[in-house]
This record gives sequence, structure tokens and C-alpha cells, in this order.
Amino acid sequence: MFKANGFNVQYGSNICADRLNAVGDYVLITHLEPWQFLKDKVKNQPIEVIEAKDLSKSYLDALAKRVPNVHIVGLGGGSAMDTAKWVHWRRQLPLTQIPSIPSVDACFTRMSALREQGGVIYEGDAVPELVIVDYELFRSAPKAMITSGIGDVLSCHTAWFDWKYAHEQGKDEFGWKPSDPAISKAYLDELADCAPGIKEQTDDGLRRLMELHRDIGWRCHELKHARFEEGSEHFFAYTFEEVTGRTIAHGELVSMGVLIMSKFQGNDFEGAQSIIEKAGTRHRLADLKVSEDEVLKSIRRTRSFSIEQNHWFSYAKTIDFDSISDKDILSCLNW
Ligand SMILES: [Zn+2]
Repeated sequence: MFKANGFNVQYGSNICADRLNAVGDYVLITHLEPWQFLKDKVKNQPIEVIEAKDLSKSYLDALAKRVPNVHIVGLGGGSAMDTAKWVHWRRQLPLTQIPSIPSVDACFTRMSALREQGGVIYEGDAVPELVIVDYELFRSAPKAMITSGIGDVLSCHTAWFDWKYAHEQGKDEFGWKPSDPAISKAYLDELADCAPGIKEQTDDGLRRLMELHRDIGWRCHELKHARFEEGSEHFFAYTFEEVTGRTIAHGELVSMGVLIMSKFQGNDFEGAQSIIEKAGTRHRLADLKVSEDEVLKSIRRTRSFSIEQNHWFSYAKTIDFDSISDKDILSCLNW
């Protein structure tokens, strides 16, 4: 059975209000939807509600400077978690994190993902007192925001293959060992096993997905890198954002990257496909409201962008998507 390490976490249904009623004065950093869902259930209202919107360092530092000396509560998706982490860390204020969707592992990682000049940089060192995972809050979100939550676990599928490739090419900075794929495999086996529960939004499925995120967050800190979890699928995702000037749900974008990259890495495309199918994660372009042109332009720009951005060595730097037909690329997604 899979056993996770990581931050203190509490699982349950309708448990957010009790925590908020118990933390004393607090500033809430959030998005509007989850707070709408919780607001009337909470007696102890926040002294200020701040909408998470900007992940540039200059904005976050200005924000951290002006908040009062109270408990910080993050409520929402990745950007609310990252904003709350930054304010907590800069000011050393107590922190409670309440993810409203199981989208990414931001509530379980120490660093904030800042957006600077088209790229992502990781900085900070946040440790929350408690992370609250409330199944009812999750289930109040649109279904696709839950099923997209597999992306940052599924990314292990392509990432470990990239890491091994880097090792074989003499381009690994992180000391790859032959036993390392076992880490990613344990995550992927557990993900495959709990995927139907994620699709059905059962307590068990949601808890197990979050336990995966918790352990991955812990391991990133232990290893001081995320090589087992971040590779060519993420580099495609960053390129997509650069090329299109927009983004979609992170987990769905990364899952697209896993499908395409696994196919052309020659790395068990069917295995990745099967997990996505079981979890009910959206992958067809029409469902994602992404155009064929956006995918083709992005995937064909990934190699040069990855080299320019000095990403870790991966298949993203070597696969020549110009020589692969539109049809072969698009068939990875439209099944
Ligand atoms: Zn990610």
C-alpha cells in the first residue's frame, strides 16, 4: 500500500469552517468561487480578503509588506496557494492551506512558482501548520478541475524517462541511479489504481490523489529537485503558454504533454492513455477548447524554446517534431 510523507494534513468533509473559526484573526488569499461556497458557513470572517491574481515577485513582495500580523489562509487553486506561501514565508506568519481543487501539488510544496518574463521560477520556503483537504469543497468545483488533478503525478511517466535519457547522454546534473525509476513507478501504479475513484470523486479517490501530491511535494524538497516529476511534458506546457499567450488547466496541459511526449519517446503511450481514460481526464482538443494549430505550433516550437530556456536535458530538446506529421501528433490527443 502507498504511504505518503509530507506536511500535516487533515482529510474530511465540511471541515474548513471549524479550522477558520479556530485560527483567530486571519487574512484570506483566495479566488472568488471557493470563498462563495464557504463564506456563509464560517463564523469567524477574515479581516481582509485578497484575490490571488498576480504571481510576479514585485506584486507578491508589495503584498507581503502590507498585510497585518495575523494568520494567513490560502484557499483555492495553485495561484492562491503560491501567493499565500509567499506572504507566509516573507513575513514568517502562520499558514493554513485549503486547496479547493486537487489540481496541483502547490499546497504541499515549499517553494512558490513565480511567473517572471514568460518563465516560471521557484523560490521561497513555506511550511504550513496544516493543509485541509475537504472533499465537499472539491466536489463543489467543476468536474474537469478534479480530473485534471492527475497531471502533476502522471508527469512522472515521461519525466523519469527524460531523466534516464539525460543520464545516458552524460547530461544529468542530479546523479541518476538505476533505482530511481522505481520512485516514479510507485507513483504511477498508485495513480492507475485510484484513477476510477478520481473520476467518480469518491472520498477514497480524492484522498489518494492528494496523498500522491503530498509525497511528491515532500520528495521535491528531499531531493532538492523535481527531475522525477518534471520533464519534456512540462517543457511542452511552458512552450504552449509562450506560443499561445494563454494557458489552460495546468493538469490538462501537462497531460497533453505526457500523451504526445510518451508516444515519441517510445515510452508506453498506452500506459499513459489508460490512466487518463480511467481518471476521465479531458484530452480531446474539442473538449479542451484548444485548436489543432495551437498544439502543432507549440509542439514544433518546444525544442528551440527548451534550448533557449535552458531546461534540463530531455526528449523535448531532441525530438524533431517538424519531421512528424500533423496527423501523427494530433492522434495522440484525439482518441
Ligand atoms: Zn506541474
